[in-house]
Amino acid sequence: MMLEGWAAPDFGALFVVSGASGTGKTTLLQAALERVPGLEFSVSATTRAPRAGEQDGVDYHFVSPDQYREMVRRNELLEHAEVYGTMYGTPRAPVFAALAEGRSIVLDIDVQGAGQVREVYPEAVTIFVLPPRLEVIRERLQARGKDGPEVVERRIRDATEQLARCGEYDYLVMNDVLDTAHAQLQGIFLAELSRRSRRSSWVRALTGGAGA
Ligand code: 5GP
Repeated sequence: MMLEGWAAPDFGALFVVSGASGTGKTTLLQAALERVPGLEFSVSATTRAPRAGEQDGVDYHFVSPDQYREMVRRNELLEHAEVYGTMYGTPRAPVFAALAEGRSIVLDIDVQGAGQVREVYPEAVTIFVLPPRLEVIRERLQARGKDGPEVVERRIRDATEQLARCGEYDYLVMNDVLDTAHAQLQGIFLAELSRRSRRSSWVRALTGGAGA
């Protein structure tokens, strides 16, 4: 269900969401993107192969290592990092085009990328998704069945390392009970988009220009 009567903010926000694979971050984000008007997903470039069901240009831009290096060389990436031996990066142009038009953007990126975004865009709102227990990550990755046992173990080690940096984030979402985590994440998006600094036009409309 969409939010009837929701008005776009005066300025879009840049949201960064991190969290280890298996925390349910993708599920939470998909629901939020459907629910929160004007919120768009930033499609990253990656050198990894598509998983079953992933679409080029929707989930990722799947590029060759040469294409990726060319994007880095031309400085086309807002941030980029190596995660699990694969290269990932956020194309810069679509992010700033969206923000300039008052749309909001969500980046699903790792802790290294989040650090780089914070450097170039300190206004970014950063959110870290936590699993209730690390063991849950193993269960979820195994149930997803898309990664081999070695990859699952590597991702758990990586989850522990990422967790050590969650203190750098503005918000934490705990994905224990899914409905609660959905409410938490969507609540963060809606609250940030309701900041007075993004809503001067409401006050101007009501006061004829005074007060905002
Ligand atoms: P996956 O391969 O499972 O889709 O993603 C693996 C990890 O890479 C996730 O933690 C995801 O957030 C991160 N990731 C995806 N796209 C980007 C990106 O553009 N930049 C960075 N720094 N990390 C990314």
